Parts: sequence; structure tokens; C-alpha cells
Amino acid sequence: MNFLRFKQAVAVSALLWALPASALHIMLDPGHGGVDTGAVHGPAKEADLVLKVAQRVKALLEKDTQFKVTLTRHHDKNVTLPARVKMAEEAKADLFVSLHANAASDQRAKGVEFFFQNNLPPDEESLFLASQENQMILNSKELHSISGGDELSKKGDVAAIVEDLHRQNRLMSSLRLTQTLTSVWGADQNAAHATIKQAPFYVISKTTMPSVLIEIGFLTNPKEAKRLLTSDYQNDLAQKIYSALLSYKEKMDNHTAKTLD
Ligand SMILES: [Zn+2]
Repeated sequence: MNFLRFKQAVAVSALLWALPASALHIMLDPGHGGVDTGAVHGPAKEADLVLKVAQRVKALLEKDTQFKVTLTRHHDKNVTLPARVKMAEEAKADLFVSLHANAASDQRAKGVEFFFQNNLPPDEESLFLASQENQMILNSKELHSISGGDELSKKGDVAAIVEDLHRQNRLMSSLRLTQTLTSVWGADQNAAHATIKQAPFYVISKTTMPSVLIEIGFLTNPKEAKRLLTSDYQNDLAQKIYSALLSYKEKMDNHTAKTLD
């Protein structure tokens, strides 16, 4: 990357990171609702469970002035996927967090899964996944070099540079968020096993802000379903999500401070 391009990248990157430095606006998205019940197994209904957890996360975020929180639904009602995305875009939310519960044909399947969408073209995705396997935290320069930045710089087009940086910022932030979530889960010995996965779910593919989709557990696993139905466990999940958001915000604020140094 040439020097001018580097300077532009640093300036825009600082701006992108600095923007949400006030209150971080979280769009919390309890999946399904109304006629769309999501997965149902015995007394466990996905739409109800994720709404309960979302309301608990909302209560924690509302007590903290570092956050602003909006829910895509407050009741048991159907909201279309495009409407959820539109809500987040119109509110200019900083993060989109979608909550779901899993179901599998094998009732032994258990644990929490965090999904993020990288939006990279397939050839870049393999590179990205490879670096993921090596537990590397990519810095913006490395990400730039794997996401076609040098191609764009030939165009010398400011709009393309901004779009490129926005895409990198979204990817890095989504990755940071999922990593923060797994480390919160990993720090608790009694917590369910947590994994990071990638899938093109609509809400995390279409939103332009960093996003994560959390599958809070398997309703098809009798032991996990029983636990998910208790308010203690719902509170525990909410507390973990809140802790991860808090730690994510701290990391972002530190990053901003360093970039502007
Ligand atoms: Zn779902």
C-alpha cells in the first residue's frame, strides 16, 4: 500500500472507530415471533425463549449509560427479516445481535454457537479462515492486503476506499465481537461449549453494521432445553452477552485511543 493510501486508511479507520465512542447502540433481535414460533420441543419454544433472554440483556444494557439498546420486537409478534434489517439501518445501530435457539436431529447436539458473516468473496474467505485457524487477530493492514485493497488503490477512487474500509471495519468488528463472546463463555467452566461458525443468515448478511447471530442452545437436547427454560440460566446467558458487549466496547475505545495517538 502506498504512503498516501496508508494515511487515508488510518484517517478513515480512526473515524470509523471513533464514531460510536459515545453510547454504543445495540440492536437486539429476538428471532421469530407470532405465527413463526421457531423451533418447538415440548415446553420449549424458541420465539419465547429468545425474547426472554433479549429482555434480560436489554435490562442490563439500559442500566449502563455506555449503551443504547433497541429491540426488533418486544412481544410475541411476527416481524419479517427485511423489517428487522431496516429497523437496524434506520436506527443507525452500531451492532446487530440476533438471538436464536438451535434444533438438531441428533439430541446429543449441545452448546452455544456464534455466527458471523464475513462477506468476503470465496477466494479471500479461505485465506481469512486459514488465518482464523491460526488464532491470529488480523490488524487492519493484513486485512487490507487479503481483501483486495491493492486492486482498489489502483482505481484511486475515494468512494471505493471508503467502501473497502467500511467492509473491513464491519468484518473486524464482527470477528472481535464473536471472539469476545467465546472468551466470556470460555472463562466460565460451567458454561456450555461455545463455537464460532459462519453462515449467510439473512439478518447478519444484510445489515451493514457489525453483527452476530447467537444460537443460545439446543432445544432438542433434553438437558439443555430444561436449563434454557429456567430464569437462572436465562439471566446467566444475558449476563454473559452483556459482559461480552462491555468488553467489546472497551476494546473499541482503546483501539480508538491508540489510533488517534
Ligand atoms: Zn431461529
